[in-house]
Amino acid sequence: MNIWPQAYLPPLDNFKFPELILCDSNAGLVKASRFKNFSIYVCGITPYDSTHLGHAATYLAFDLINRYQILSKHEVNFIENVTDIDDPLLERAKRDTLNWQALASEQVELFKSDMSALRIIPPKSLVKVTESFSLIEKFITLLSDRGFLYKLDKDYYFSVGDFLNDLPISVNEAVSIFKECGGDPERAGKKHPLDPVIWQANRDGDPGWPSSFGFGRPGWHVECTAIACGHLDNSISDPIIDLQGGGSDLAFPHHYMSAKIVNAALGRKFACLYVHSGMIGLDGEKMSKSKGNLVFVSKLLENKVDPMVIRWALLSEHYQVDRQYSSELLKEAQADVDLLRAALSRSEVADSDQLINDLIADLSNNLDTPSALNRLVLWAKKSQTDETFNKAGQVSRAIDSLLGLAL
Ligand code: ZN
Repeated sequence: MNIWPQAYLPPLDNFKFPELILCDSNAGLVKASRFKNFSIYVCGITPYDSTHLGHAATYLAFDLINRYQILSKHEVNFIENVTDIDDPLLERAKRDTLNWQALASEQVELFKSDMSALRIIPPKSLVKVTESFSLIEKFITLLSDRGFLYKLDKDYYFSVGDFLNDLPISVNEAVSIFKECGGDPERAGKKHPLDPVIWQANRDGDPGWPSSFGFGRPGWHVECTAIACGHLDNSISDPIIDLQGGGSDLAFPHHYMSAKIVNAALGRKFACLYVHSGMIGLDGEKMSKSKGNLVFVSKLLENKVDPMVIRWALLSEHYQVDRQYSSELLKEAQADVDLLRAALSRSEVADSDQLINDLIADLSNNLDTPSALNRLVLWAKKSQTDETFNKAGQVSRAIDSLLGLAL
Protein backbone atom coordinates (compact mmCIF):
# COMPACT_ATOMS: atom_id res chain seq x y z
CA MET A 1 0.00 0.00 0.00
CA ASN A 2 1.21 3.54 -0.68
CA ILE A 3 2.61 5.09 2.43
CA TRP A 4 2.87 8.72 3.41
CA PRO A 5 5.88 10.86 2.43
CA GLN A 6 9.20 10.06 4.05
CA ALA A 7 10.28 12.52 6.77
CA TYR A 8 13.89 13.64 6.30
CA LEU A 9 16.20 12.38 9.03
CA PRO A 10 19.29 14.60 9.34
CA PRO A 11 22.26 12.30 10.16
CA LEU A 12 24.07 12.60 13.50
CA ASP A 13 27.29 10.89 12.49
CA ASN A 14 29.53 12.77 14.94
CA PHE A 15 27.71 11.45 17.98
CA LYS A 16 27.92 8.09 19.74
CA PHE A 17 24.70 6.14 20.28
CA PRO A 18 24.62 3.81 23.29
CA GLU A 19 22.56 0.68 22.80
CA LEU A 20 18.84 1.34 23.07
CA ILE A 21 17.24 0.05 26.27
CA LEU A 22 13.49 -0.56 26.19
CA CYS A 23 10.93 -1.83 28.65
CA ASP A 24 9.58 -5.23 27.66
CA SER A 25 6.15 -5.74 29.19
CA ASN A 26 7.21 -9.15 30.57
CA ALA A 27 10.93 -8.82 31.28
CA GLY A 28 11.35 -5.13 32.19
CA LEU A 29 14.32 -3.08 30.96
CA VAL A 30 16.37 -4.92 28.32
CA LYS A 31 18.65 -4.19 25.37
CA ALA A 32 16.55 -3.75 22.26
CA SER A 33 18.81 -5.17 19.56
CA ARG A 34 20.29 -8.57 18.83
CA PHE A 35 21.71 -7.89 15.38
CA LYS A 36 22.51 -5.06 13.01
CA ASN A 37 19.11 -5.81 11.47
CA PHE A 38 16.18 -4.73 13.61
CA SER A 39 12.69 -5.98 12.78
CA ILE A 40 9.66 -4.30 14.23
CA TYR A 41 5.97 -5.00 13.79
CA VAL A 42 3.44 -2.48 15.06
CA CYS A 43 -0.27 -3.27 15.18
CA GLY A 44 -1.99 -0.69 13.04
CA ILE A 45 -5.39 0.91 12.90
CA THR A 46 -8.83 -0.45 12.17
CA PRO A 47 -9.90 2.30 9.78
CA TYR A 48 -13.42 3.11 10.93
CA ASP A 49 -12.61 6.40 12.64
CA SER A 50 -9.78 8.88 12.26
CA THR A 51 -6.61 9.06 14.34
CA HIS A 52 -7.26 10.10 17.93
CA LEU A 53 -4.53 11.19 20.33
CA GLY A 54 -4.22 7.68 21.77
CA HIS A 55 -3.30 6.34 18.33
CA ALA A 56 -0.96 9.27 17.74
CA ALA A 57 0.86 8.66 21.04
CA THR A 58 1.34 4.98 20.17
CA TYR A 59 2.74 5.58 16.69
CA LEU A 60 4.90 8.36 18.08
CA ALA A 61 6.52 6.01 20.61
CA PHE A 62 7.44 3.51 17.87
CA ASP A 63 8.58 6.36 15.66
CA LEU A 64 11.14 7.30 18.32
CA ILE A 65 12.39 3.70 18.39
CA ASN A 66 12.57 3.65 14.59
CA ARG A 67 14.50 6.95 14.54
CA TYR A 68 16.94 5.86 17.24
CA GLN A 69 17.68 2.56 15.54
CA ILE A 70 18.17 4.20 12.12
CA LEU A 71 20.45 6.88 13.60
CA SER A 72 22.49 4.24 15.41
CA LYS A 73 23.01 2.48 12.04
CA HIS A 74 20.69 -0.47 12.37
CA GLU A 75 19.00 -1.83 9.27
CA VAL A 76 15.42 -1.36 10.38
CA ASN A 77 12.64 -3.39 8.82
CA PHE A 78 9.42 -1.89 10.09
CA ILE A 79 6.02 -3.32 9.14
CA GLU A 80 2.63 -2.05 10.22
CA ASN A 81 -0.76 -3.51 9.31
CA VAL A 82 -4.16 -2.00 8.63
CA THR A 83 -7.07 -4.14 9.87
CA ASP A 84 -9.32 -3.10 7.01
CA ILE A 85 -11.85 -5.86 7.62
CA ASP A 86 -13.20 -6.13 11.14
CA ASP A 87 -16.51 -6.00 13.04
CA PRO A 88 -16.23 -2.34 14.19
CA LEU A 89 -15.60 -1.22 10.60
CA LEU A 90 -18.60 -3.17 9.27
CA GLU A 91 -20.81 -1.95 12.14
CA ARG A 92 -19.90 1.70 11.52
CA ALA A 93 -20.48 1.29 7.76
CA LYS A 94 -23.92 -0.28 8.41
CA ARG A 95 -24.84 2.37 10.99
CA ASP A 96 -24.00 5.22 8.60
CA THR A 97 -25.15 3.35 5.44
CA LEU A 98 -21.70 3.64 3.93
CA ASN A 99 -19.80 1.25 1.72
CA TRP A 100 -17.32 -0.42 4.11
CA GLN A 101 -14.47 -0.31 1.59
CA ALA A 102 -15.02 3.38 0.86
CA LEU A 103 -15.14 4.10 4.61
CA ALA A 104 -11.91 2.14 5.18
CA SER A 105 -10.02 3.80 2.36
CA GLU A 106 -11.19 7.31 3.36
CA GLN A 107 -10.07 6.69 6.96
CA VAL A 108 -6.74 5.23 5.87
CA GLU A 109 -6.07 8.36 3.81
CA LEU A 110 -6.90 10.54 6.82
CA PHE A 111 -4.63 8.43 9.03
CA LYS A 112 -1.79 8.83 6.53
CA SER A 113 -2.16 12.61 6.38
CA ASP A 114 -2.24 12.78 10.22
CA MET A 115 0.93 10.65 10.44
CA SER A 116 2.64 12.80 7.84
CA ALA A 117 1.68 16.04 9.65
CA LEU A 118 3.10 14.62 12.89
CA ARG A 119 6.37 13.75 11.10
CA ILE A 120 6.07 10.02 11.85
CA ILE A 121 8.53 8.17 9.61
CA PRO A 122 6.42 5.77 7.52
CA PRO A 123 6.94 2.02 8.00
CA LYS A 124 8.67 0.12 5.22
CA SER A 125 5.27 -1.36 4.37
CA LEU A 126 1.77 -0.55 5.53
CA VAL A 127 0.03 -3.85 4.89
CA LYS A 128 -3.74 -4.20 4.45
CA VAL A 129 -5.35 -7.39 5.71
CA THR A 130 -7.54 -7.49 2.58
CA GLU A 131 -4.38 -7.67 0.46
CA SER A 132 -2.88 -10.47 2.56
CA PHE A 133 -5.31 -13.38 2.27
CA SER A 134 -2.97 -15.82 0.54
CA LEU A 135 -0.31 -15.16 3.18
CA ILE A 136 -2.86 -15.60 5.99
CA GLU A 137 -4.28 -18.79 4.46
CA LYS A 138 -0.76 -20.24 4.18
CA PHE A 139 -0.13 -19.45 7.83
CA ILE A 140 -3.42 -21.00 8.99
CA THR A 141 -2.48 -24.15 7.04
CA LEU A 142 0.67 -24.41 9.18
CA LEU A 143 -1.47 -24.35 12.32
CA SER A 144 -3.71 -27.00 10.82
CA ASP A 145 -0.78 -29.21 9.73
CA ARG A 146 0.62 -29.14 13.26
CA GLY A 147 -2.72 -30.16 14.77
CA PHE A 148 -3.60 -26.91 16.53
CA LEU A 149 -6.66 -26.01 14.49
CA TYR A 150 -10.14 -27.42 15.02
CA LYS A 151 -13.48 -26.88 13.36
CA LEU A 152 -16.66 -25.84 15.14
CA ASP A 153 -19.66 -25.70 12.82
CA LYS A 154 -18.10 -23.80 9.91
CA ASP A 155 -15.57 -21.80 11.96
CA TYR A 156 -11.99 -22.72 12.85
CA TYR A 157 -10.35 -22.17 16.23
CA PHE A 158 -6.79 -22.28 17.55
CA SER A 159 -6.40 -24.73 20.41
CA VAL A 160 -4.46 -22.56 22.87
CA GLY A 161 -4.77 -24.94 25.85
CA ASP A 162 -1.21 -26.33 25.63
CA PHE A 163 0.29 -22.82 25.57
CA LEU A 164 -1.25 -21.18 28.62
CA ASN A 165 1.52 -21.97 31.10
CA ASP A 166 2.62 -18.32 31.33
CA LEU A 167 -0.79 -16.66 31.42
CA PRO A 168 -0.02 -13.36 33.23
CA ILE A 169 -3.47 -13.19 34.90
CA SER A 170 -5.95 -15.73 36.29
CA VAL A 171 -7.99 -17.75 33.78
CA ASN A 172 -11.18 -16.04 35.00
CA GLU A 173 -9.71 -12.58 34.46
CA ALA A 174 -8.37 -13.65 31.08
CA VAL A 175 -11.77 -14.96 30.04
CA SER A 176 -13.42 -11.70 31.05
CA ILE A 177 -10.93 -9.52 29.07
CA PHE A 178 -11.09 -11.94 26.12
CA LYS A 179 -14.88 -11.45 26.03
CA GLU A 180 -14.62 -7.65 26.27
CA CYS A 181 -12.26 -7.74 23.28
CA GLY A 182 -14.73 -9.57 21.05
CA GLY A 183 -13.84 -13.17 22.04
CA ASP A 184 -16.51 -15.84 22.50
CA PRO A 185 -15.46 -17.79 25.64
CA GLU A 186 -18.95 -19.18 26.22
CA ARG A 187 -19.49 -20.76 22.81
CA ALA A 188 -20.53 -24.40 23.25
CA GLY A 189 -18.14 -26.96 21.80
CA LYS A 190 -14.91 -24.98 22.25
CA LYS A 191 -12.02 -26.98 23.70
CA HIS A 192 -10.95 -24.05 25.91
CA PRO A 193 -12.86 -20.81 26.56
CA LEU A 194 -9.80 -18.79 25.48
CA ASP A 195 -9.41 -20.48 22.08
CA PRO A 196 -9.46 -17.63 19.54
CA VAL A 197 -11.25 -17.84 16.21
CA ILE A 198 -8.81 -18.22 13.33
CA TRP A 199 -11.18 -18.39 10.37
CA GLN A 200 -14.72 -17.12 10.71
CA ALA A 201 -17.28 -18.48 8.23
CA ASN A 202 -19.25 -15.87 6.36
CA ARG A 203 -22.57 -14.83 7.90
CA ASP A 204 -25.37 -12.36 7.34
CA GLY A 205 -24.11 -11.14 4.00
CA ASP A 206 -20.89 -9.72 5.52
CA PRO A 207 -17.90 -9.58 3.20
CA GLY A 208 -16.04 -12.87 2.79
CA TRP A 209 -13.26 -14.44 0.77
CA PRO A 210 -12.80 -17.99 -0.56
CA SER A 211 -10.17 -20.16 1.14
CA SER A 212 -9.42 -23.81 1.83
CA PHE A 213 -11.18 -23.20 5.17
CA GLY A 214 -14.38 -22.07 3.48
CA PHE A 215 -15.82 -18.70 2.52
CA GLY A 216 -15.21 -16.17 5.28
CA ARG A 217 -12.51 -14.05 6.85
CA PRO A 218 -9.59 -14.48 9.24
CA GLY A 219 -9.60 -13.78 12.96
CA TRP A 220 -7.82 -10.74 14.37
CA HIS A 221 -4.80 -12.41 16.03
CA VAL A 222 -3.82 -14.59 13.10
CA GLU A 223 -3.91 -11.64 10.69
CA CYS A 224 -1.09 -9.91 12.53
CA THR A 225 1.00 -13.03 13.06
CA ALA A 226 0.70 -14.05 9.40
CA ILE A 227 1.53 -10.55 8.12
CA ALA A 228 4.43 -10.11 10.56
CA CYS A 229 5.96 -13.50 9.79
CA GLY A 230 5.21 -13.20 6.05
CA HIS A 231 7.15 -9.92 5.85
CA LEU A 232 9.79 -10.26 8.56
CA ASP A 233 10.69 -13.95 9.05
CA ASN A 234 14.17 -14.81 7.77
CA SER A 235 13.48 -18.53 8.58
CA ILE A 236 16.44 -18.60 10.99
CA SER A 237 15.91 -16.16 13.86
CA ASP A 238 14.35 -17.38 17.05
CA PRO A 239 12.52 -15.29 18.21
CA ILE A 240 11.45 -14.36 14.71
CA ILE A 241 11.20 -10.57 15.11
CA ASP A 242 12.83 -8.10 17.47
CA LEU A 243 9.81 -6.17 18.64
CA GLN A 244 6.03 -6.29 18.53
CA GLY A 245 4.42 -3.05 19.59
CA GLY A 246 1.10 -1.40 20.20
CA GLY A 247 -1.02 0.24 22.87
CA SER A 248 -1.18 -1.40 26.32
CA ASP A 249 -4.75 -2.51 25.58
CA LEU A 250 -3.26 -4.96 23.04
CA ALA A 251 -1.01 -6.79 25.53
CA PHE A 252 -3.78 -9.28 26.33
CA PRO A 253 -5.30 -11.01 24.49
CA HIS A 254 -3.91 -9.77 21.15
CA HIS A 255 -0.14 -9.91 21.66
CA TYR A 256 -0.33 -12.87 24.01
CA MET A 257 -2.36 -14.86 21.49
CA SER A 258 -0.13 -13.76 18.61
CA ALA A 259 2.89 -15.19 20.42
CA LYS A 260 1.11 -18.49 21.07
CA ILE A 261 -0.16 -18.82 17.50
CA VAL A 262 3.34 -18.28 16.07
CA ASN A 263 4.83 -20.71 18.54
CA ALA A 264 2.26 -23.35 17.57
CA ALA A 265 2.58 -22.78 13.81
CA LEU A 266 6.35 -22.43 13.50
CA GLY A 267 7.83 -23.96 16.66
CA ARG A 268 9.75 -20.73 17.32
CA LYS A 269 9.15 -17.73 19.54
CA PHE A 270 7.55 -14.70 17.94
CA ALA A 271 9.16 -11.53 19.35
CA CYS A 272 12.11 -10.70 21.60
CA LEU A 273 10.34 -7.67 22.99
CA TYR A 274 6.74 -6.67 23.55
CA VAL A 275 6.57 -2.93 24.03
CA HIS A 276 3.35 -1.14 24.93
CA SER A 277 2.43 2.51 25.08
CA GLY A 278 0.12 3.92 27.76
CA MET A 279 -3.45 5.11 27.23
CA ILE A 280 -4.42 8.75 26.80
CA GLY A 281 -7.32 10.14 28.81
CA LEU A 282 -9.22 13.41 28.55
CA ASP A 283 -9.80 15.66 31.55
CA GLY A 284 -9.59 12.77 34.03
CA GLU A 285 -11.53 10.18 31.99
CA LYS A 286 -10.26 7.39 29.76
CA MET A 287 -10.51 8.48 26.12
CA SER A 288 -12.71 5.96 24.38
CA LYS A 289 -15.14 5.61 21.56
CA SER A 290 -17.94 4.46 23.87
CA LYS A 291 -17.61 7.63 26.01
CA GLY A 292 -17.55 9.79 22.88
CA ASN A 293 -14.62 11.83 24.23
CA LEU A 294 -12.03 11.15 21.54
CA VAL A 295 -9.78 14.02 20.48
CA PHE A 296 -8.88 13.62 16.82
CA VAL A 297 -5.56 14.76 15.38
CA SER A 298 -7.30 15.93 12.19
CA LYS A 299 -9.68 18.15 14.21
CA LEU A 300 -6.79 19.77 16.08
CA LEU A 301 -5.02 20.37 12.76
CA GLU A 302 -8.23 21.84 11.29
CA ASN A 303 -8.28 24.21 14.27
CA LYS A 304 -4.79 25.38 13.27
CA VAL A 305 -2.95 23.67 16.12
CA ASP A 306 0.70 23.32 15.09
CA PRO A 307 1.44 19.58 14.62
CA MET A 308 4.82 20.08 16.30
CA VAL A 309 2.98 21.38 19.38
CA ILE A 310 0.82 18.21 19.39
CA ARG A 311 4.00 16.17 19.08
CA TRP A 312 5.67 18.10 21.93
CA ALA A 313 2.59 17.69 24.14
CA LEU A 314 2.54 13.92 23.58
CA LEU A 315 6.29 13.62 24.21
CA SER A 316 6.15 15.65 27.42
CA GLU A 317 5.21 12.56 29.40
CA HIS A 318 6.66 9.07 29.24
CA TYR A 319 5.27 6.79 26.52
CA GLN A 320 4.47 3.94 28.94
CA VAL A 321 2.47 6.03 31.36
CA ASP A 322 -1.32 6.34 31.17
CA ARG A 323 -1.77 10.09 30.94
CA GLN A 324 -4.23 12.89 30.51
CA TYR A 325 -4.69 15.24 27.62
CA SER A 326 -6.08 18.71 28.26
CA SER A 327 -6.14 22.03 26.47
CA GLU A 328 -3.79 23.22 29.23
CA LEU A 329 -1.21 20.63 28.15
CA LEU A 330 -1.39 22.00 24.61
CA LYS A 331 -0.91 25.57 25.89
CA GLU A 332 2.15 24.55 27.90
CA ALA A 333 3.54 22.72 24.87
CA GLN A 334 2.98 25.81 22.72
CA ALA A 335 4.90 27.96 25.24
CA ASP A 336 7.82 25.50 25.31
CA VAL A 337 7.92 25.27 21.51
CA ASP A 338 7.87 29.09 21.24
CA LEU A 339 10.75 29.32 23.72
CA LEU A 340 12.78 26.79 21.80
CA ARG A 341 12.07 28.38 18.42
CA ALA A 342 13.28 31.72 19.80
CA ALA A 343 16.52 30.10 20.98
CA LEU A 344 17.03 28.31 17.66
CA SER A 345 16.66 31.57 15.77
CA ARG A 346 19.60 33.16 17.66
CA SER A 347 22.95 33.26 15.98
CA GLU A 348 24.72 32.07 19.14
CA VAL A 349 23.46 29.70 21.80
CA ALA A 350 24.54 27.67 24.84
CA ASP A 351 26.73 24.56 24.43
CA SER A 352 25.10 22.20 21.95
CA ASP A 353 27.43 19.16 21.83
CA GLN A 354 26.76 18.32 25.46
CA LEU A 355 23.05 18.93 24.95
CA ILE A 356 22.88 16.54 21.99
CA ASN A 357 24.86 13.83 23.82
CA ASP A 358 22.47 14.18 26.77
CA LEU A 359 19.41 13.96 24.50
CA ILE A 360 20.77 10.77 22.95
CA ALA A 361 21.37 9.35 26.46
CA ASP A 362 17.79 10.25 27.48
CA LEU A 363 16.31 8.49 24.47
CA SER A 364 18.55 5.43 24.85
CA ASN A 365 17.14 5.12 28.38
CA ASN A 366 13.72 3.66 27.44
CA LEU A 367 12.75 6.80 25.48
CA ASP A 368 12.93 9.23 28.40
CA THR A 369 11.31 12.09 26.51
CA PRO A 370 10.22 14.08 29.62
CA SER A 371 13.91 14.48 30.56
CA ALA A 372 14.84 15.31 26.95
CA LEU A 373 12.19 18.02 26.69
CA ASN A 374 13.06 19.52 30.10
CA ARG A 375 16.67 19.60 28.99
CA LEU A 376 15.72 21.47 25.81
CA VAL A 377 13.72 24.06 27.77
CA LEU A 378 16.65 24.64 30.16
CA TRP A 379 19.04 24.93 27.21
CA ALA A 380 16.74 27.47 25.49
CA LYS A 381 16.60 29.56 28.69
CA LYS A 382 20.36 29.35 29.12
CA SER A 383 20.88 30.43 25.51
CA GLN A 384 19.23 33.78 26.35
CA THR A 385 22.26 34.77 28.45
CA ASP A 386 25.04 32.31 27.67
CA GLU A 387 25.73 32.93 23.98
CA THR A 388 28.91 31.00 23.43
CA PHE A 389 28.52 28.68 20.48
CA ASN A 390 27.39 29.28 16.93
CA LYS A 391 25.60 25.96 16.65
CA ALA A 392 21.85 26.58 16.76
CA GLY A 393 21.55 24.81 13.39
CA GLN A 394 23.15 21.68 14.81
CA VAL A 395 20.63 21.58 17.67
CA SER A 396 17.78 22.16 15.24
CA ARG A 397 18.87 19.22 13.08
CA ALA A 398 19.47 16.99 16.13
CA ILE A 399 16.02 17.48 17.65
CA ASP A 400 14.48 16.92 14.23
CA SER A 401 16.37 13.61 13.90
CA LEU A 402 15.99 12.34 17.43
CA LEU A 403 12.57 13.62 18.39
CA GLY A 404 10.94 14.38 15.04
CA LEU A 405 10.50 18.00 16.12
CA ALA A 406 11.07 20.24 13.10
CA LEU A 407 11.09 23.67 14.75
ZN1 ZN B 1 -1.90 -6.78 15.74
